[in-house]
Amino acid sequence: MVKSNKVIIIGAGISGLTTAYLLHKDGYDVTVLEKNDQVGGSIETMVEDGFLFDRGPNSGLETTPIIAQLVEDLNLKDELVYANKEGNKRYILRNNRLNALPMSPPAFLRTRLFSGKAKLRLFAEPLIGRSQDGYYQSVAEFVKRRLGQEFLDYAINPFVAGVFAGVPEELSVKSAFPKLYALEEDYGGIIKGTIKSIRKRKKRKEQSKRTAKMFSFKSGMMVLPEAIANHLGNRVKLSANVVSIKKTGDGEYGIAYKEGEQNLTLLTDILLLTIPAYSAAELLGHIDSDLRLHLRSVYYPPVLVLYLAYNKANIGQPLDGFGFLIPSKENKSFLGAIWSSVIFPNRTSEDTASFTLFIGGSRNPGFVNEPEDTVVKNAKTEFEELMKIKGEAVYTQKRFWPKAIPQYNVGYVEHENYFDHFEIDNKGIILSGNYRGGISVGDCIQNAEKVTGKIKNL
Ligand SMILES: Cc1cc2nc3c(=O)[nH]c(=O)nc-3n(C[C@H](O)[C@H](O)[C@H](O)COP(=O)(O)OP(=O)(O)OC[C@H]3O[C@@H](n4cnc5c(N)ncnc54)[C@H](O)[C@@H]3O)c2cc1C
Repeated sequence: MVKSNKVIIIGAGISGLTTAYLLHKDGYDVTVLEKNDQVGGSIETMVEDGFLFDRGPNSGLETTPIIAQLVEDLNLKDELVYANKEGNKRYILRNNRLNALPMSPPAFLRTRLFSGKAKLRLFAEPLIGRSQDGYYQSVAEFVKRRLGQEFLDYAINPFVAGVFAGVPEELSVKSAFPKLYALEEDYGGIIKGTIKSIRKRKKRKEQSKRTAKMFSFKSGMMVLPEAIANHLGNRVKLSANVVSIKKTGDGEYGIAYKEGEQNLTLLTDILLLTIPAYSAAELLGHIDSDLRLHLRSVYYPPVLVLYLAYNKANIGQPLDGFGFLIPSKENKSFLGAIWSSVIFPNRTSEDTASFTLFIGGSRNPGFVNEPEDTVVKNAKTEFEELMKIKGEAVYTQKRFWPKAIPQYNVGYVEHENYFDHFEIDNKGIILSGNYRGGISVGDCIQNAEKVTGKIKNL
């Protein structure tokens, strides 16, 4: 048993803040230390010249009831917005044409996104047995075996670019898509498993990512971390850069941090790190050198987010969807584009439309070696061609993330096992954040509940 109810949380991204919120609600004495001068971490909203640009996540999926609970408790009902019905329609590029992703069996049979051969191949899925070495399988191996090469190329490849900015040949199916992996493990196949697992999920009151509602806020995604931080008040310390963690003799941890010119230290026997793996490696490496290696091995590729707005009158493509994703095989210089102002209100003026493009990721980390102007120009030219845009952009912005999203690559299970092992050996330290339990905003929020449970059981 740990001695006190005091918890220090490093990092005020959505993982740290949600956990702080839940623990505070349960009577814990929480302090959140954040090195930046604002909360949110990867969540950043910028408003300029009447354009609202979410520089990190543009939306979340309501996969857990905690999101509704946060909205209720923090009085965010008037701010909350769900994606309008256009948000359900997604396009995938094939042969330079945007094809709507089929959302029903008849649409699947009609679509030109997949060939007749690829469609027939899907029907064989229930007949395919389990893999012998599923543990170390990439998403590509798993999907190719179960669903065929074309489904991998034109559905899964663009999908993992949209979620992880990743590539299916590198991502581990077990770690990156545990629910997909479990469908084969538990039920012997994706189609059989999907049907059977729907009933189970209903009992747990969870929503699958496929059916969960997509949400944001009228004033952008930053509304959520800011509201949690306001609720926690001076329990959240900004510009507080944690520089070292030391074990004291009597089972406590000394957390040294710099606040401006001041060097300060806090003592605690419960410490939660929600910072990126590479930052945690620097703070914990001297306690466990193997942990340092595991944490440093987690790859975070660079991503450039490009925000463009145009007069609607100049856009030839009908704006009736969430946006589009680009398969690697289409050889474009960006991964896809979200039609930001189509999905959520309050993003632009009535007569303009805004778009968020993603460049790089694991597919093309080398873009950082080219001049940024060239990278932007190439993506913009291709985008304008695909969207049949005539005039110039009326607004352009960008945000470069040198280390954007952790990749749960093949072999990740070894890291996950080691993180569990480290927590057992170092009672009171918990490792959390988006490199454990899912990278999406919804996963981070759901995971905060699990972490809260872990802390209560210490
Ligand atoms: C470009 C981009 C687009 C995305 N799009 C989506 C999307 O559309 N939908 C979706 O669901 N998810 C999306 N994601 C993923 C999602 O936003 C993140 O996984 C999630 O917000 C991570 O939250 P976190 O709290 O775990 O980590 P972070 O947000 O990284 O927060 C960690 C915090 O720790 C702080 N910190 C680090 N070191 C220290 C230290 N030494 N001392 C004190 N503080 C420290 C950092 O400053 C940071 O604030 C996107 C991510 C990116 C980068």
